[in-house]
Amino acid sequence: MIEQRRILATAIPGPKSLALGQRKTAAVSAAVGTGLPVYIEAAADGILRDIDGNQLIDFGSGIAVTSVGNGNQRIIDAVSRQIADFTHTCFMVTPYEEYVAVAEELAALTPGDHEKRSALFNSGAEAVENAIKVARSATGRQAVVAFDHAYHGRTNLTMGLTAKNMPYKHRFGPFASEIHRVPMAYPYRWPTGADRCLEEAFEEFVALVHAQIGEDNTAAVIIEPIQGEGGFIVPPDGFLTKVAQYCRDNGIVFIADEVQSGFCRTGDWFASDHEGVVPDLITTAKGIAGGLPLAAVTGRAELMDAVHVGGLGGTYGGNPVACVAALAAIETMREDDLNAAARAIEDTLTPRLKELADRTGRIGEIRGRGAMLAIELVSDQGAKTPDPALTAAVNKACHARGLVTLTCGTFGNVFRFLPPLTIAPELLTEGMDILDEAFDAALG
Ligand SMILES: *Cc1c(COP(=O)(O)O)cnc(C)c1O
Repeated sequence: MIEQRRILATAIPGPKSLALGQRKTAAVSAAVGTGLPVYIEAAADGILRDIDGNQLIDFGSGIAVTSVGNGNQRIIDAVSRQIADFTHTCFMVTPYEEYVAVAEELAALTPGDHEKRSALFNSGAEAVENAIKVARSATGRQAVVAFDHAYHGRTNLTMGLTAKNMPYKHRFGPFASEIHRVPMAYPYRWPTGADRCLEEAFEEFVALVHAQIGEDNTAAVIIEPIQGEGGFIVPPDGFLTKVAQYCRDNGIVFIADEVQSGFCRTGDWFASDHEGVVPDLITTAKGIAGGLPLAAVTGRAELMDAVHVGGLGGTYGGNPVACVAALAAIETMREDDLNAAARAIEDTLTPRLKELADRTGRIGEIRGRGAMLAIELVSDQGAKTPDPALTAAVNKACHARGLVTLTCGTFGNVFRFLPPLTIAPELLTEGMDILDEAFDAALG
């Protein structure tokens, strides 16, 4: 077991990582970037150990994936047993219990007590694609509505749903048709002010669907209940409820993309739970299986069963090793109350972020929920001018000090915090001390 403390044995990255970086350049496509090019050899809970012997504090969880902790023992045991039993049959050829058990858990845990069905896949993007397929098939309609700042993946259909050009879409078109974009309820940047955001964003959404698409042509509205890559944008309370109700009134499938926000990350099982919103379809991935590739679409039985037999699937979807990892991850979340852990992380980080905001004057907004928190950096509080340069400098300074941090946001000016939910409180505090230092270093 790796000791839960930061160790700086060499510069970051160290000599062995630099050497591997050269091998990477010669063998791996330059298009596959690395945010912090230290090569990891082992990890446990809140610590990643690299090949130079450095131990880094993990504030990223591999992008909200290892929520149950790096090297979770329940997952190690379950996966080891499953690998010895069998690794693959393809559920569409000869099925196995583990897939069914994951679908049962998803039905129990996702919002709403209606009859549900699930289908399992390998990645978040694949889950989103399949949710759109289900919505189109079940409604006989084609149009899909997505929001500004949305991120839904990198396959052709999901690139089209994703808002941001660089790096996700640039030179990769043409994109799928029948995707329509509407403004996101983004209180901090709503032109007439945060107070008017809820009503006006909803009115614009309704008007755009009516004027430019037609309700009867609209198969689905897809939204991240808290936006991820787009900048951890939290819509005002009530927005999701209004959109979901509008969808219900107009026979439109309401899809919550909870790939990043799901599975205890926000202090609830799903971010939709916070408002009591019941999506028709919900997509999950990232945190579901502690790092094993698994994704799901879960939703109303009448929608999920409307697709013709054989219409959904894939060679690896719901792989048995990934399924037992998901069952072990869910057991950990339930037994160790990781919702409470996520809320405790919020309670620790929020006051520190407020202090930092007061001290530096460069944080326009602190937002998010549970262990999905972010700060938006600006160079001018009045004009709210995004400061991507400061964001990059702080990020770099954190990395140099052995703290794994991630940025995001349409304007590249958001710092996001996604620690494993099992992280030791001392590491959280130390991480915040490092963030303070990193701001001081970056601001000179
Ligand atoms: C990461 C993400 C996806 C894509 O998931 P992949 O597993 O990378 O394909 C889709 N939606 C949201 C909200 C995400 O955060």
